[in-house]
Amino acid sequence: QFPPSEILNSLPKQFFAGLVKKVGEYIDLGHDVINLGQGNPDQPTPPHIVAKLQEAAANPLNHKYSPFQGHLYLKQAAADFYLREYGVTLDADKEVAILFGGKAGLVEIPQCLLNPGDTILVPDPGYPDYLSGVALAKAEMVTMPLRERNNFLPDYGELSEEILSKSKLMFLNYPNNPTGATATAEFFEETVKLASENDICVVHDFAYGAIGFDGERPLSFLQVEGAKEIGIEIYTLSKTYNMAGWRVGFAVGNESVISAIELLQDHLYVSLFGAIQEAAAEALTGPQDCVKELNQLYERRRNILIDGLQSLGWKVTAPKGSFFAWLKVPEGLSSEEFATILLDQTHIMVAPGIGFGEFGEGFVRVGLLTTDERLIEAVRRISSLEIFKK
Ligand code: PLP
Repeated sequence: QFPPSEILNSLPKQFFAGLVKKVGEYIDLGHDVINLGQGNPDQPTPPHIVAKLQEAAANPLNHKYSPFQGHLYLKQAAADFYLREYGVTLDADKEVAILFGGKAGLVEIPQCLLNPGDTILVPDPGYPDYLSGVALAKAEMVTMPLRERNNFLPDYGELSEEILSKSKLMFLNYPNNPTGATATAEFFEETVKLASENDICVVHDFAYGAIGFDGERPLSFLQVEGAKEIGIEIYTLSKTYNMAGWRVGFAVGNESVISAIELLQDHLYVSLFGAIQEAAAEALTGPQDCVKELNQLYERRRNILIDGLQSLGWKVTAPKGSFFAWLKVPEGLSSEEFATILLDQTHIMVAPGIGFGEFGEGFVRVGLLTTDERLIEAVRRISSLEIFKK
């Protein structure tokens, strides 16, 4: 009997709730559903990280409140990780903020930097949670279309002087969810130039930083000269170390943005459980073979799926990074219609592109988060669809 507040009502709705419900119904009826629609990593956290958590959980020092902004050793581990992986030097104290997962940081940032009515640039298609942060900050959103012909990078030439002059914040995300595209150094350089000229803060979401294919190593935004002056990068341990349930990540880069995030977090929470911070530091600075192996696993799965679908005559493009494939819907169908056909006729769930924005129409997103055997089975089931029969 207590209605939600206006601001809660303004939050975007879960767009494929209908499909998720249907999946549940098919499972209840005993059907074997292959869920390629959601983005939950299927591999366990590497054992050395779990062992560190167990050991650290027994330490009474970790049973107390952690320092409000997190332990300096974890910030230092994040700085060491950036230096080792990307050659980027960070001041652990001033240029790193510990986050409760990437999502929390992404949702908080608009509230840290924007006043109601301020303009923010958001990619379309894009990770839906950017929109939650925009709604909570009561900001005005301008979308930047990501088109296939531009390799799913925004074309800054499409943004008018007026939009650029009033924009305060911009979200970017490469490797990209949902398109699987990666960014080039030239694109990041162009971004730094545009942002400095127009006083826009860039937030680069690097959630899939560890997942790049065909020998291509995804670039950190901070590798580009001048990036730290105009922006930050959000990193999460969820995908790199299969720690999605642990809720730990960090923001790195511009000192004033980092301190704004820490100020807001001061008011919202006390920092993460100390044992999780110790285990996260172990993940970042301990053995890294697991990261390489994970990348190989996703690349193998990508090849199985893409080669399999191409052999059916479906003209699909291979993603360059992330654990998603972005597949063009056969002509004449909307993304929702195609996803519904797949679910009803083959019991495979995929995410309709329209759920990621207007420019996602015409595509479906498929997660590479199941075994080789299940992907092979998915291709076999798809081959039975009338539209792919030769
Ligand atoms: N950014 C993108 C593009 C994602 O796909 C996700 C998770 O699915 C996240 C950020 C957030 O990850 P987490 O909150 O687990 O760190």
